[in-house]
Amino acid sequence: MHRERLTDDIFVFTSERYVQVTATVIFTQKGVVVFDTLPFPEETRQMADFIRRSGRGPVRYLILSHSHADHVYGAYLFPEAEIIAHRRCYDLLMRYGQKGLEEARRAEPELTEVTLRFPALWTETDAALRMGNKTIQLYYSPGHTPDLIGAYIQEERTLLASDTMMPVPYVADGDPLQLIDSLHALRQYQAEHLVQGHGDILLRGEIQTHIAANIAYLEKLVEVISHAVEEGTPLERLLRIPPEEFGVSRIALEGLAPQIHQANLLAYYEQSKQHKRKRK
Ligand SMILES: [Zn+2]
Repeated sequence: MHRERLTDDIFVFTSERYVQVTATVIFTQKGVVVFDTLPFPEETRQMADFIRRSGRGPVRYLILSHSHADHVYGAYLFPEAEIIAHRRCYDLLMRYGQKGLEEARRAEPELTEVTLRFPALWTETDAALRMGNKTIQLYYSPGHTPDLIGAYIQEERTLLASDTMMPVPYVADGDPLQLIDSLHALRQYQAEHLVQGHGDILLRGEIQTHIAANIAYLEKLVEVISHAVEEGTPLERLLRIPPEEFGVSRIALEGLAPQIHQANLLAYYEQSKQHKRKRK
């Protein structure tokens, strides 16, 4: 796990064990807010220890950006915190959480000690959390998944975008068109820092460039697949197009970017085929 200080009050933790997933600690005059956790107990425990040593606790709130395992499995290590998420995150965790955890435990015995925690506070519209000297705006940001929320810390001009921003967009559980809208919405913030759900922290000038690149990727994905489905092009032929033609770097995210791209192709191809069938 790697820790980075963004400002005096904001620290970002990046997993060294699972595709550079990030979690953020926000210190306020009225206690601590944590945004997402890390998947393995060992790494989230280091976050909790860091907060304890700072003497600036307790952790009042834990915001879960969405229900994906890699962001929520550490929640039980902040038992004193109330959990905030989108209502759909609650629904998804209730429906699929336990089954997913049991499967994950079989592959990773370390996860045996993990127990799921469910959000007690739900947002459905945009909301603001005022904690001492910090204003944390929560905004709905669907596309990667239908339950995703991000946070903007006004005083620090810091955007916690979660998986709305990744080195390569991931939409296999979501909707690329919705993600395009959510990416456009990120542009209105005059952020100094953008914390992606996975990968490096983006600074000022880089932010707009990376958002534009992700929008371009998704537009190309939608265009190529829509065309292929109209023409009846087989999926195999799409899978043979080199990822670079979509602007995907083979080395991004520890070399996983091409796999993510392939998952996007498969999922959106299936979705588009079903839409086409319904239209007939
Ligand atoms: Zn995710």
